Amino acid sequence: MIIEEYDAKSLVRTARTSLFSWAEVYLNPYQGCEHDCVYCDGKAESYYMHDDFGQRIRVKKNAPELLELYFKKQGFFPVNREKTSTLVDYFPNLRESADSSKKKKFVLFIGGGVCDVYQPVEKEVKMTRKLLQIAYDYKIPVFFLTKNILILRDLDLLKKINEESYACASFTITLADEKKQKIFEPNASTSQERFEAIEKLRDEGIHSGIYFYPTLPFLGDTDENMNSIYKTGKEVGAEFIYCWGLTLKRGLNKNQFMKALQDYFPEYYPKYKELYGNEDKYGSLDSTKFEELGLIWPEIKGYKLGQELKIDYTLKRYVPEGRIESNLMIAEVLNRLAYLKSYFIRSSKYETRQLNLAASYLNSFSKDISLMSNEERSKLDIDKVIIPYVEEYIREKRSKTLKSTEEKAYTSVSKYIKQKESK
Ligand code: SF4
Repeated sequence: MIIEEYDAKSLVRTARTSLFSWAEVYLNPYQGCEHDCVYCDGKAESYYMHDDFGQRIRVKKNAPELLELYFKKQGFFPVNREKTSTLVDYFPNLRESADSSKKKKFVLFIGGGVCDVYQPVEKEVKMTRKLLQIAYDYKIPVFFLTKNILILRDLDLLKKINEESYACASFTITLADEKKQKIFEPNASTSQERFEAIEKLRDEGIHSGIYFYPTLPFLGDTDENMNSIYKTGKEVGAEFIYCWGLTLKRGLNKNQFMKALQDYFPEYYPKYKELYGNEDKYGSLDSTKFEELGLIWPEIKGYKLGQELKIDYTLKRYVPEGRIESNLMIAEVLNRLAYLKSYFIRSSKYETRQLNLAASYLNSFSKDISLMSNEERSKLDIDKVIIPYVEEYIREKRSKTLKSTEEKAYTSVSKYIKQKESK
């Protein structure tokens, strides 16, 4: 394994919130990932990563400085830092005002995309721990998604952050069978270890759930594998299971995956060739072929299983300090409605788009929408189709529409699965 250090020009990026993680700020302290998962789309040429992605890890050695700089630019103080050279330590009153200034906080996703921040190299480099310590110092809520139980090393910090605000440490789990899992995720912790880690985190009060992603056709989407992941997830106390399919971007990502299929599961090779033969830019499979092969969308199966086992299909939103609670809670409802309507009820694209646009608008809207008059609200840049959902939430302090849409989605997916299975 080659480890290279370098000074990065930038570290932090912002992104629109989505129900995937609700995070708004992301960072990657590493480039490359020792886990070297066969399906990893971080290897795709479109991310401009190095070819030896799994064998050469590049470490952004100035990541802690860049993160501090970013927090300072946002007007935050390291209020939890015991020894610091900032003015706050010499003038305790400043600490008070810094803390109560309630600058708009956000959930920070440490990782995501092109690395796993708890890959084995982290044991030695401890870069993620340094960044987590800074997040604690600045009282910033955090979100993690990993395949390595090394995250448990940082339980002390996760607990401290969670006590003050919010920490979510989630795991990707795609294959329950260890032999198959080791083929596709050779250097990650076993699925069993990950389940046990979730149990431990939940026992400690940390938020945790499962990203059942990517669900591999014929291998991960079998009843046996899906039931096993959902049932064990329930047993260990996972708060949610987010289920999604596989993309294979043309080039390295797809070539490596197809090679592994040829080596270990040649029986599925021709079917994958059909499914992913469309050379789609985003690596999406050919939905017509998918239907022809009689497959059932994993998101649909997953939603049904989750509803039956009473596991949420995504994580609940946390409202960071300095943010307007009702706006963010309504935005969550709208994003969830868009998701359900789009994937399980197949409502019009227009409505789902407007729901997501309105959610995005509310995320950054500076006035509390629940304190405005109906007339004022009607002048906002929110489509009138969406207004009844907003009004309902403000009136009832919850969304009956979301509840009924979840039930409708369950009926719809059950019907779909039944039809598929009877063919
Ligand atoms: S853990 Fe994630 S980033 Fe690392 S190789 Fe696997 S899929 Fe890629």
